[in-house]
Amino acid sequence: MTELDRHSTTTDAGIPAESDEHSLTAGADGPILLQDAYLIEQMAQFNRERIPERQPHAKGSGAFGRFEVTADVSRYTKAAVFQPGTTTELVARFSTVAGERGSPDTWRDPRGFALKFYTTEGNYDMVGNDTPVFFVKDPMKFQHFIRSQKRRADNNLRDHDMQWDFWTLSPESAHQVTWLMGDRGIPRTWRHMNGYTSHTYMWINREGERFWVKYTFKTDQGIEFFTQHEADQMAAADTDYHTRDLFEHIRDGEYPSWTMYVQIMPYEDAATYRFNPFDLTKVWPHGDYPLIEVGRMTLDRNPSDNHAEIEQAAFQPNNLVPGIGPSPDRMLLARLFSYADAHRARVGTNYQQLPVNAPRATEAHSYSKDGAMRFSPVSDPVYAPNSKGGPAADVARHGSPPSWQADGEITRTAYVAHPEDDDWGQARTLVREVMDEAARERLVDNVAGHLLNGVTAPVLDRAFAYWRAIDPEIGDRIQVTVEAKQQEKDPKADEQANPARRSMQSKA
Ligand code: NDP
Repeated sequence: MTELDRHSTTTDAGIPAESDEHSLTAGADGPILLQDAYLIEQMAQFNRERIPERQPHAKGSGAFGRFEVTADVSRYTKAAVFQPGTTTELVARFSTVAGERGSPDTWRDPRGFALKFYTTEGNYDMVGNDTPVFFVKDPMKFQHFIRSQKRRADNNLRDHDMQWDFWTLSPESAHQVTWLMGDRGIPRTWRHMNGYTSHTYMWINREGERFWVKYTFKTDQGIEFFTQHEADQMAAADTDYHTRDLFEHIRDGEYPSWTMYVQIMPYEDAATYRFNPFDLTKVWPHGDYPLIEVGRMTLDRNPSDNHAEIEQAAFQPNNLVPGIGPSPDRMLLARLFSYADAHRARVGTNYQQLPVNAPRATEAHSYSKDGAMRFSPVSDPVYAPNSKGGPAADVARHGSPPSWQADGEITRTAYVAHPEDDDWGQARTLVREVMDEAARERLVDNVAGHLLNGVTAPVLDRAFAYWRAIDPEIGDRIQVTVEAKQQEKDPKADEQANPARRSMQSKA
């Protein structure tokens, strides 16, 4: 290819294009000709540029980097990615949950914190959030929860009444809602937030010993947040503020990093621990299971094609490598299926062949074959077992899957309750023992502001009761703030919005 050819426009088939500006017409004022294959290719390709956005986590961006192991946790896991001295290439994607692809980065919402480590034992994915807990603990409720956060059927608007209706009828949401309404509900940037696996996983060492594990990625930039007012201003000034911030800092060589820690629970502790360790609405307090350092994640390379490398990046928690396994966490078990299923639907059957999703430090030798857009040729034999030299599972090395004891009648029930399991206790600890008075004041204002934005009786009364169950004093303060603001707006609004209170007052 000559230098001249390298700079010439071509069709997607590499044929020189005749013009970047003019369609082929029959005479200067005449009709466009169907034989203008380049024009037709440009129009047709444009019509097909968008792929369905993620449902949820549609708005986000990411970058590439590396994970360096700085400590020795080999007594807990044999996973190559976490062995001392190992450095592994990775891709990270951060996102909001409920908003669409064009929605503001600074809406109050949990942030997705998804990682794909290109390990020597295949790709290891972690699909976490910037919070250690979640709103629900059973996947049966997940779809309904997300719908309650998105848009109504009739007017296509988001609706706080719908959100609080779901939350107050789902008291297991209290811990995550408290977190969300607090300072960490709007990180200043993605660089200034922590990441958590949230789920409990299993680690297995070389001797076959099993442990339960939760990961925390603490930001090395320090935690910083936006107040509601600051976030609202930013949503108007720069919808893509978090996307821009990450890209520009990496472009300018200011690489963000996070230190990864784990909490390790001996396998046997799970049965008797004071909280059910697989319940996604609970943390393991650090006093019970302290943070143990593992390594550092640094992001140092921006994508050059956001669509190919970030929008089509497909993270799935079923990508678990030897030494790491799932746990009885029901939400995790459901996600092991649903993420890969979402990618097949959104990106296509052969999504794992795209460069961002394909293994980099090892090769795929599966028997997957054909399907739309397959581009890595398969070779015979196309079945197993075979006597024709095809790949065979190394049962001696990899034949013992991560496992735990499970039996009992088939049932539809809640988890078995552990001694201190309830919906409110850990949320109460967060309010009373972690937040200071200034943070509590902001919490009250954030909740009141949220409730004043369209939440009406009877949901409003349930919201006050919900907060009183978390902390009676905070519940009272929220109610007083809401009612005072309602009075300011419309002296009659209090009675309309809160008939229960009106009847209490008339009885008194
Ligand atoms: P600790 O005092 O050991 O830890 C408190 C944790 O709270 C720290 O991880 C801190 O993060 C985080 N935190 C500080 N301010 C806020 C905020 N406004 N919103 C959310 N998190 C905040 O306490 P325990 O481990 O005993 O847990 C007490 C409570 O802290 C829990 O009920 C839970 O709500 C919350 N928490 C617990 C975590 C855990 O894994 N144990 C993790 C995060 C929160 P940092 O150190 O980065 O400042």
